[in-house]
Amino acid sequence: MDLCSPSEVKRLLESRSLSPRKALGQNFLINPSVPLMIAERSYEAARAASGDAPLGVLEIGPGVGALTARLADFYDLVVAVEIDRGLADLFTETFADHENVELVCEDFMKLDFPQLISESFSDILAAGGSVSVCANLPYYITSPVIMKILDSFPPCGRVPLASITVMIQTEVANRLCAAAGSSDYGAITAAVALKASVRKYFTVSPGSFYPPPKVTSSVIGIVPHGGIKEIFDGCPPGDPECESFFRSVTEVISASFAQRRKTLVNALSSVYGKEKIRSALSALGFREDVRGEKLSAADFCKLTAELTQ
Ligand code: SAM
Repeated sequence: MDLCSPSEVKRLLESRSLSPRKALGQNFLINPSVPLMIAERSYEAARAASGDAPLGVLEIGPGVGALTARLADFYDLVVAVEIDRGLADLFTETFADHENVELVCEDFMKLDFPQLISESFSDILAAGGSVSVCANLPYYITSPVIMKILDSFPPCGRVPLASITVMIQTEVANRLCAAAGSSDYGAITAAVALKASVRKYFTVSPGSFYPPPKVTSSVIGIVPHGGIKEIFDGCPPGDPECESFFRSVTEVISASFAQRRKTLVNALSSVYGKEKIRSALSALGFREDVRGEKLSAADFCKLTAELTQ
């Protein structure tokens, strides 16, 4: 069965009276080279991080299964989470003869992610293996999914995933990869940079999907780094002081970008007071009229340390 053939995808959907649901971001891959390239990137990153150990991968939103089929060629175990009951039933039938593919029919945003990982991949983890995440993400929840993945684990210590490889809107990919000071830089860039570095692999045009989305897509790799080294090095996972500091940094980031045109002194004044913010900025070598978009994630950590001491 060719899960990337447009006529086959339509036939499979029609066989169960299904049609692509826009509200669930259902744009299915129909260009066979794309799922292959995504699966290869995912696997290469996981293998590089895990040596010869067994490898499992969690796929969010398998849909008809174009990406799942390629992941199953590389990984020892694929666990796919699909919200749509109709697609989940179709998927179960399609992959009935794949022993290394399992399906969970649930809303990814509602499930307990660490529990899913530890239960679904218990054999892989018991054998010293690793788990990765790979997905062609539904566009309506791109950033919430990424933040859920990163925020599901204690802030100090490495997110226990060998690789995170996802296809998202190019506009969001650019935001995640943006350097401080650039026009694409924002709260999500800094919040993700606190836990991981992001690299863009390649872009995918709308014609590679059925139905075609209105925007261009990009495949990115999110590499958890265990906390910005110069700030969180030596911080034991679960350390309450470290976790509380991390929470403060996150709050400072979100307040700093809540009203983009505001200077940091104005954006943070209700919590820390203008004088304290001015002296913290000056201690870090920033002008007092600086805005949030000029500060890297490491700068936000240093600013928070000055403000909370
Ligand atoms: N992986 C398939 C592919 O590449 O052709 C489908 C990708 S499609 C962009 C997104 C998929 O995510 C759909 O199958 C959709 O039903 C599913 N989905 C949407 N929201 C979800 C959620 N909250 N939890 C799990 N799956 C979801």
